[in-house]
Amino acid sequence: MRAATAAVRREAQRPDGEAQAIDTLCHEWAHALAWNFSLDRLAKTPGLDPIEFERACHDEAWGCAFSRVWRAYLEVGRLVA
Ligand SMILES: [Zn+2]
Repeated sequence: MRAATAAVRREAQRPDGEAQAIDTLCHEWAHALAWNFSLDRLAKTPGLDPIEFERACHDEAWGCAFSRVWRAYLEVGRLVA
């Protein structure tokens, strides 16, 4: 818990825009890890409801992938600190 608190504190001290850029990179990286044929098929559906697509893209698989990416990012930060 102490390491997590220090990591959150480090994130809060980043210059404007850098924390958001890191969050965006982790978010998109998680999409790359969690993408599957079902999402491909859904994306090509004519008249696709964008809310349904957003919900499908941010499902449990994406959440787990985001967690893995975030932990990897924190580990890299710990190694270079
Ligand atoms: Zn997303």
